Amino acid sequence: MENTIVLRTWLDDLKLTHPLVIAGPCSAETEEQVMGIAHALKDTDVNYYRAGIWKPRTRPGNFEGVGAIGLKWLQRVKEETGLKTATEVANKAHVDLALEHDIDLLWIGARSTVSPFIVQEIADALRGTDKVVLVKNPVNPDLSLWLGAVERLRSAGIEKLGVIHRGFSTYEKTKYRNIPEWQLAIELQSRFPDLPLINDPSHISGKRDLIFDVSQAALDLNFDGLMIETHTNPDKAWSDAAQQITPDRLVQIMRDLRIRKETDQEAAYRQNLSNLRAQIDVIDNQLVDILGKRMKVADAIGSLKKEKNVAVLQTNRWNSILGKMILEGQEHGLSEEFVLKMFKAIHQESINHQEAIINS
Ligand code: PEP
Ligand code: MN
Repeated sequence: MENTIVLRTWLDDLKLTHPLVIAGPCSAETEEQVMGIAHALKDTDVNYYRAGIWKPRTRPGNFEGVGAIGLKWLQRVKEETGLKTATEVANKAHVDLALEHDIDLLWIGARSTVSPFIVQEIADALRGTDKVVLVKNPVNPDLSLWLGAVERLRSAGIEKLGVIHRGFSTYEKTKYRNIPEWQLAIELQSRFPDLPLINDPSHISGKRDLIFDVSQAALDLNFDGLMIETHTNPDKAWSDAAQQITPDRLVQIMRDLRIRKETDQEAAYRQNLSNLRAQIDVIDNQLVDILGKRMKVADAIGSLKKEKNVAVLQTNRWNSILGKMILEGQEHGLSEEFVLKMFKAIHQESINHQEAIINS
């Protein structure tokens, strides 16, 4: 992806004094609903009005979108409110129709990004367009797949590009609908600083209470914008009801978010940050040092066990260590989950050491 400067231009051209905002309903439902939400968002910070026209549903039998008729409603939104329009495209037919209806921004959904065939089909259909095209991360945490989709669009001559981070599926149930795995977005940002990065707190959260915190986390990590599902009657939405917020709530969130400046604009901030990072580096070194010491003690225990022919794994002792450390962790503001994970890893390493000693 050379020539990355071009990628940012469309965003810089908007000359925004706040993060880019894409808002609107998960799905276009009726003309009244689409117009009602658009008018409620008209005089806000919203830059692009989103509405899903074709909905990828995990299970069949749910509302699958109103189809092409909804594109006419989006055209009306643009005429009446001046908001630019955005929708998801998942095949060539969608692209052709969206372009025919002059949709300003097209995005590739998480379920499409996983398929290079689909992405290629979409890229070919978009060849030569000057519309903005954003790629949502694939449902699985795979950075190459995400970047691969961007590269396919780049190769088709699309210059106004960006990515949307909407979190990743897990089998395990967590407080998120899709866990953020922020490190992937951070890595993408550090490898391609000129690729606009938008956060989608709605699909990460799955419920409206988490939207603010996820948005703030994204802005703290210097994301360029937010895509937030917004509906005048969220509870009655035909898709993703639990995660949609009202236009009023969106305005409030935009007001309350602390918008961070670019790091290099504030020398004092940078100085503070680098001091804190230096402290972290020192502590990290101490951590490794102390873990090495602990392991030496474990080695000594291993030698003793070998002498006495005792089993390596002593479950009772291990459980009592864990119990104590969870309590200790709480006092230091560490979650039980973290303490458990950390001690499991430390314990496993001790067992490996002791096995090696006993079998030596
Ligand atoms: C959406 O934006 O409504 C959508 C279906 O998103 P995703 O592809 O992230 O699931
Ligand atoms: Mn949705």
